[in-house]
Amino acid sequence: MNNSVIEVTDVSKSFGGVVANRNISLTVPDGEITGLIGPNGSGKTTLFNSIVGYHPIDQGSIKFEGQEISDLNVQQIARLGLLRTFQQTRIYGKMDCVKNMLISVPHRKAKWSDMFTDYSAEDLEKAEHLLDFVGLYSKRKLLSGDLSFGQQKLLEFAMALMNEPKVLLLDEPTAGINPTLINGLIDRLLRANADFGITLLVIEHNMRVIMNLARHMYCLAHGELLASGAPEEIQNDQRVIDAYLGAH
Ligand code: ADP
Ligand code: MG
Repeated sequence: MNNSVIEVTDVSKSFGGVVANRNISLTVPDGEITGLIGPNGSGKTTLFNSIVGYHPIDQGSIKFEGQEISDLNVQQIARLGLLRTFQQTRIYGKMDCVKNMLISVPHRKAKWSDMFTDYSAEDLEKAEHLLDFVGLYSKRKLLSGDLSFGQQKLLEFAMALMNEPKVLLLDEPTAGINPTLINGLIDRLLRANADFGITLLVIEHNMRVIMNLARHMYCLAHGELLASGAPEEIQNDQRVIDAYLGAH
């Protein structure tokens, strides 16, 4: 068993009267792909937001590589090498793909005005290499707003890779993508893990996708951790099946 790169211990988070996460404890093994599933509204995105410092937690501890990070902000945590992508894509539609890639490394630049003028040839080469990696090289000069939704998700993934994360949290990476592109994305995620050594924590609704990706899975329901185990165990866990059936 590998070391844990993320350790979440007894984390709770409420919004007003709504308990979005209650006493969640889980670990993410270094170098592996871990799945996070659960019905809509079960608290998955909230947990991601807590881990990356998007909002303060009410109680508990979150450690990254052994360091407490629950009191750090998004930028500080990103600098440590822990990044997330969003359920809704966040690209600049009026910029071409290469520009989107170049501005996705904001923490390197001191001033906003430097971002467009002061990138290095090295960054440009890296941007093009990663666009090639996700299959978007031929589209690199197109406005990202003109890409299909699935291609935008691939772009967003490439933008995250620009930052050379140690750990990447992906929030429903395949949502809204057609089956052909989904297979391509699964392949890219596996390669990002195997070839670049990036640890992945993936929220995913599509069971086929997560079964193909994850070595270990956690399932949330009603803001609480319901089950954890190998994908086959989770898939056959009656509590998990009931949670999904009860949600529809
Ligand atoms: P999931 O990602 O599993 O669909 P979320 O973490 O988005 O679930 O939401 C869990 C619960 O927390 C839901 O009841 C949702 O309405 C609530 N919630 C999430 N974010 C906020 C917020 N910023 N303000 C108020 N309620 C929120
Ligand atoms: Mg969500």
